[in-house]
Amino acid sequence: MYFTEEHHIFRKSFREFLQKEVVPHINKWEKDGTIERFIWEKFGEMGYFGLNQPEEYGGLNLDLFYTLIFLEELQRINSGGFAAAMWAHAYLNMSHLKAEASHEIKQKYLTPSIEGKKIGCLCITEPFGGSDVAGMRTTATKKGNTYIINGSKTFITNGIYSDYLIVSAKTNPKEKHKGMSIFVVDRTAKGISSTKLDKLGWRASDTAEISFDNVVIPAENLLGEEGKGFGYIMQHFALERLIMGINAHARAEFAVEYAIKYIGEREAFGTTINKFQALRHKIAEMASKVDMCKEYNYSIAKRLNDGVYVVKEASMSKLLSTKMADEVIYDALQLLGGYGYMEDYPMARMLRDSRIGSIGGGTSEILKEIIAKMVIDGKDYKPIIK
Ligand SMILES: Cc1cc2nc3c(=O)[nH]c(=O)nc-3n(C[C@H](O)[C@H](O)[C@H](O)COP(=O)(O)OP(=O)(O)OC[C@H]3O[C@@H](n4cnc5c(N)ncnc54)[C@H](O)[C@@H]3O)c2cc1C
Repeated sequence: MYFTEEHHIFRKSFREFLQKEVVPHINKWEKDGTIERFIWEKFGEMGYFGLNQPEEYGGLNLDLFYTLIFLEELQRINSGGFAAAMWAHAYLNMSHLKAEASHEIKQKYLTPSIEGKKIGCLCITEPFGGSDVAGMRTTATKKGNTYIINGSKTFITNGIYSDYLIVSAKTNPKEKHKGMSIFVVDRTAKGISSTKLDKLGWRASDTAEISFDNVVIPAENLLGEEGKGFGYIMQHFALERLIMGINAHARAEFAVEYAIKYIGEREAFGTTINKFQALRHKIAEMASKVDMCKEYNYSIAKRLNDGVYVVKEASMSKLLSTKMADEVIYDALQLLGGYGYMEDYPMARMLRDSRIGSIGGGTSEILKEIIAKMVIDGKDYKPIIK
C-alpha cells in the first residue's frame, strides 16, 4: 500500500544498476577497504544521491519511499560497507546541508554532492565519547570573519576520502547542549589529518580518526545558527535511525531468502534439508520477525514522510530491527552449516557487517534511554527546524 508503479520501476532499475555497475567490484573494494571514485560519479549521474533533495540544487525531490527502496536494494548486494559509504554521504552530511546551509554553501557543496563529484562525511563522535554528544570537546573559536577549529573526531564514515566534512564543535565550551554549532569544513583547509581505522565489518567503507589543528574556516561555513548544533543533530537522528532500522530489516530479509534457497538445494539423510521440521520452524520464526520489523518501518517511513517528528518510533525501529537482523543472520548462517562460515558464501560478511547496527548512530542503550524518557516520564521532543 506504500508503493506506486513508479516506485516499482525505480526499484527494478536501481537493482539492475547495482548488479551491473557495483556487484562486479564489491569483492575488490571489500578487500582494499576503498571504493573507487568512478562509482560515486555514476551514482551522481543517475540521480541516486539527490532522491530527497530539492530540484533547485539538482535533486529529484521524491518522497521517502524512493529513499527506502534505495536503502533496501543497497543491502541486497551484501556489502554493508559499500551501502554505508553511499547512504552516509546521501543522508548524513547532505541532510545537514539541505536543512541548515545557506544558498551559497548549498551551491558550493550540496550540488556537487548530488552530482557525486564531492564526497562528504559527518563528524560528531569523538575519541573521548560518542554517546554523550553534548560532552564533546572540539572547539570552534570565532576570530574576525573566521572560526578556528581544534579537536578530534573518530569512527567517521568516509572520513579519509571525503572532500568536505560536516563538523560539530563547541562555540561556547562552558555550555553543554546550547554551546554546540555545526560547520562545513573543506578538506583543503590546512591542519586536517586523517588516519584510517581497521574494523570488524563494513570493510569496503573507510572509517577514520580525524584531527583538527588550528583549522581556519570562513565564518559563513557555519550551518544554521550558532548554538543550535545539538538540536540539528538530534533532529536528523530521526531519519538516520529509521535508515538503520530499514537497513536491518532489508539485510535480514535477504538472509532469509538466501537460507530458504539454500535449504531447498542442500541434501542430508537422503532428502533436501528443507524437509526437517527443526529448520522449517526456524525459517518460520525468522520470516515472521523480518515481516514484523519491515511493516513497522514502512509505517514509520510513511509518518516521517508526512512530516511527523518520529523520534520515539525511529529509536524503536533501530533498537528492535538491528537486534532482529543480528539474530536472523546468525540463524541463517547456521542453516548453511560449514558453508555459512566461508567467505565464498554471503552470510559470513553479512554477520560481521550487521553487528554495527546496535552501535552506530546511537547505541541500543542510548535508544532505550530516549524511549524510556518518552514512555515513562512523558518527555516530548520538538523539532528545531520547522
Ligand atoms: C563503523 C562505524 C562507523 C561510524 N560512523 C560514524 C560517522 O560517520 N560519524 C560519527 O559521528 N560517528 C560515527 N560512528 C560512531 C558511533 O555513532 C559511536 O560509536 C556510537 O555513538 C557510540 O559511541 P562510542 O563508540 O564513543 O561509545 P561510548 O559512548 O563510549 O559507549 C560505550 C558503551 O557504554 C554505553 N553507554 C554510554 N552511555 C550510556 C548511558 N547513559 N546509559 C547506558 N549505557 C551507556 C554504550 O551504549 C556502549 O555500550 C561510527 C562508528 C562505527 C563503529
